[in-house]
Amino acid sequence: MDKQLLAMLVCPLCHAKLDYDREAQELLCRFDGLAYPVRDGIPVMLEEEARQLSADEKLEKSS
Ligand SMILES: [Zn+2]
Repeated sequence: MDKQLLAMLVCPLCHAKLDYDREAQELLCRFDGLAYPVRDGIPVMLEEEARQLSADEKLEKSS
């Protein structure tokens, strides 16, 4: 995904910067514990499309 696009993306709920998980193709908000899907390179920034992160995932390194 485009780095500039990524830098512009924030969580629609809390407006924090998101972590991009390249392997999972997800954008992670560690504050809300949500993972937003990236479909065909297009981030889907909808709370109802987001996946809940597990406790382990929330604890992973935040970069
Ligand atoms: Zn958030």
